[in-house]
Amino acid sequence: MGTAGMAAESKPKRNWIYAKKPAGRWFNRRQWFGYTLLTFFIAAPFIKIGGEPFLLFNIIARKFVLFGSVFWPQDLHIFVFGMLIAMVCIVLFTVVYGRVWCGWACPQTIFMELVFRRIEYWIEGDWTQQKKLNQEPITTGKYVKKVAKHMIFLLISFLISNIFLSYIIGVDQLWKIMTDPVSQHLGGFVSIILFTLVFYGVFAYLREIVCTTICPYGRLQGVLLDDQSITIAYDHRRGEPRGHRKKGAEQAIGDCVDCSLCVQVCPTGIDIRNGLQMECVSCTACIDACDAVMEKLDRPKRLIGFFSVNEIEGNAKKPGNTRAIAYTAVLSVLIAVFGWLIFSRSQVDGTLLRAKGSSYQVHEDGTVSNLYSLELINKTSTDMPFTLETVRGSMTIRVVNPSAELKAGATAQLTFFLISPQQSVKTYKTDVKIGVVSNGKVVETLKTTFVAPPGGQ
Ligand code: SF4
Ligand code: SF4
Repeated sequence: MGTAGMAAESKPKRNWIYAKKPAGRWFNRRQWFGYTLLTFFIAAPFIKIGGEPFLLFNIIARKFVLFGSVFWPQDLHIFVFGMLIAMVCIVLFTVVYGRVWCGWACPQTIFMELVFRRIEYWIEGDWTQQKKLNQEPITTGKYVKKVAKHMIFLLISFLISNIFLSYIIGVDQLWKIMTDPVSQHLGGFVSIILFTLVFYGVFAYLREIVCTTICPYGRLQGVLLDDQSITIAYDHRRGEPRGHRKKGAEQAIGDCVDCSLCVQVCPTGIDIRNGLQMECVSCTACIDACDAVMEKLDRPKRLIGFFSVNEIEGNAKKPGNTRAIAYTAVLSVLIAVFGWLIFSRSQVDGTLLRAKGSSYQVHEDGTVSNLYSLELINKTSTDMPFTLETVRGSMTIRVVNPSAELKAGATAQLTFFLISPQQSVKTYKTDVKIGVVSNGKVVETLKTTFVAPPGGQ
């Protein structure tokens, strides 16, 4: 761990990290990217496609919506595939570009570095002023600053909690919780308070501990990275031996002037010059800090930059990254299967079973019938008129409890007879297909068997 940007606070064992305000080319890029993602994160629950939210992960109601398409428990396989693809994407990116997800796209980093820490700089000043303020005895000024900061932190945590919850229950339900009497939505109200406290705890106190200790993804780096992975690294061959050049002295000295600015800006408190470390979240703050120093000294930039171990060590570049190629191949197959699953997904799902304890009924008019029970689920967000029909053959259907419409996102239970002239029955067990027809289109086909003694016997 670096020391220049840290100091021990009153709390035991915790080295509180005071990160110097970052600035530079990479930070500007990261701001643009981070604030764009933040805007999307805030706006997504309000976007609706065909009456459904753009994204919804309602674990309680087991309803998931991706890009406006509703996925029910029956579509779990598609959803699992989607999640698998997302995971492979992250792994692939890690193999090729190191921990780029952490520094650029992870909500923890975006909120911490681009929201909460910015407010801290605004109220308490840069890292040296923050450190001084924490060491000072309590004064009115300090008290006002601390209260103002923590009230704003709590308010933002409350907003994040609401947005987070709207991804689970949807904005409409969230609005009800906010506007109805508390007693009507006690569970929802308690969830908002709990999430608020969790987010506040994470951003006000836990901070980099989430990335360095709690997050399992961070701990996987050792397994995922190899010599060809591009990570943020210090070019030690160019930088060492580090130190200040004395005027006029002929010294064999490297480009690192040991100014420690790269350590001061690091939000996880490490010294990148000690080599690749699990705590590095690829935030690029040290690149900007070092580039500014090199610029002042009129030396080439990229003493700290995006490098692979092979590049740093001057090893010849291998033609390709085998693991990256393998992951890309797996990812392509998964995306193709995912596309096919989405494309071939039926609007209606059904379970067709022969009624319990019945086989066949022979009627005086020369027909024979079987009794079935059918459960249909409408996976769309609109009501669907429907009828049943036999896909082939001379059989007819008589529904016992006719229902003309399948409600949006709802299930319907039906009981019906399949009737056939006994003369047309050729074998004891006949395979039949039942079509669910809506607006002139067969939206689901279900298979079953029809049992009856063959005609004439
Ligand atoms: S070492 Fe550099 S890139 Fe890594 S976390 Fe620290 S400042 Fe960010
Ligand atoms: S910012 Fe650059 S020059 Fe300064 S200590 Fe870090 S690596 Fe060396």
